[in-house]
Amino acid sequence: MRKILIASIFTLAASFSFYEIALAQSAVNTAAGQESITIRAGSLIDGTGEVRENVTITVENGKIQRLDNSAGPYTFDFSDKIVLPGLIDTHVHITAHFNSQGRYGPDPDQTQAQTLLYAAENAYLTLMAGFTTIQSVGRDDDKDLRDAINRGVLPGPRILTSLAPINLNSGTPSQLVEIVRQRHADGADVIKMFASASIRDGGSQVMSDAQIQAVCSTANEVGLRTVVHAYGTESISTVIEAGCTQIEHGNRYDDDIIDLMTERDTYYDPHLGLLYANYFDNRGKFIGIGNYTEEGFAAMEEARVIGYETFKRTLELGDVKIVYGTDALAGAHGRNIEELIYRVEEGGQDRMDAIVSATSLAAESLNLEQVIGTIAVGLNADIIAIDDNPLEDTAALRNIRFVMKDGVVYKNN
Ligand SMILES: [Zn+2]
Repeated sequence: MRKILIASIFTLAASFSFYEIALAQSAVNTAAGQESITIRAGSLIDGTGEVRENVTITVENGKIQRLDNSAGPYTFDFSDKIVLPGLIDTHVHITAHFNSQGRYGPDPDQTQAQTLLYAAENAYLTLMAGFTTIQSVGRDDDKDLRDAINRGVLPGPRILTSLAPINLNSGTPSQLVEIVRQRHADGADVIKMFASASIRDGGSQVMSDAQIQAVCSTANEVGLRTVVHAYGTESISTVIEAGCTQIEHGNRYDDDIIDLMTERDTYYDPHLGLLYANYFDNRGKFIGIGNYTEEGFAAMEEARVIGYETFKRTLELGDVKIVYGTDALAGAHGRNIEELIYRVEEGGQDRMDAIVSATSLAAESLNLEQVIGTIAVGLNADIIAIDDNPLEDTAALRNIRFVMKDGVVYKNN
């Protein structure tokens, strides 16, 4: 009942401005009288790699209570639709935006409140695109957004945050031990570290082996995962040997890295298409800021090509846990699914594997496999629906018709 109450409050707050929510309101209110919500799935892609036909999902108190073939009437009859778990993006920058000057990042006159409202807009777009959980890696102000969404009124995905990232200049190894402990105390869900330079600056290892080891071993001690920006064989092997959890971007490595990632169960989160397309499409909004120079853009052109080569080799040679992340920043929020389309259509990944990477495998990488990522009894009711079969046409995932998070309907059109 709590979730339904929250849904009603949310609907009151938001339906004046959001057409989808207004539509959802009547359905949720109907469900309130029934104590439970039923969703009939014509086809269910459950997140584990299985497909089932004609399944009734019963949701109570925000959780999936039953999966069976019970007859209607249903709260939501999706007999002609495909139902999936809410999607998960393990690498976004939820506060990143183009400012009122049409440029990347905050303009000098922008208030903190304005920045946070841009972030709230990004969160809304992301949820409407079917992403019910994201991991935001790179700013400390997304903690307030996380906590606001968790209060249950503001529409957005469940957010995990790294708070401020750790880099070359963060401190000596012994200082880094304290910084990781402090992040943990401050409520970080994960540690983000830049072991390598930006790809626009060549991407080679910049943190020392001792710094990398200090961060990942301390994070392991306090029970925090580590997601590490790293390119090339040298950086990535150091990162893996240090016991870090996940490699971000990660192109340009030799075959030994594929074996090492497989052996150590290191998650690999490549960014092949959306990141680059977004930069190239919005070039004028980035160019001239920091390392967004002509040389920087040329380096990204090259990295895009090498990224596909690395990805294809990784698919071919190993059994690496390739997890879903987009590195969505300004311009890419709400288009998170595009990376999955690139991975399949240009990178050659199997369609079902790509869907698993963005559902159950992503949940596992977040240590949330008992909570989200699969349509299974006992898990949170994060559920989306689409019209067409994404196992035949990946782009079907662009057209999200229905979004439920924790049993609350946020979109139904
Ligand atoms: Zn990033």
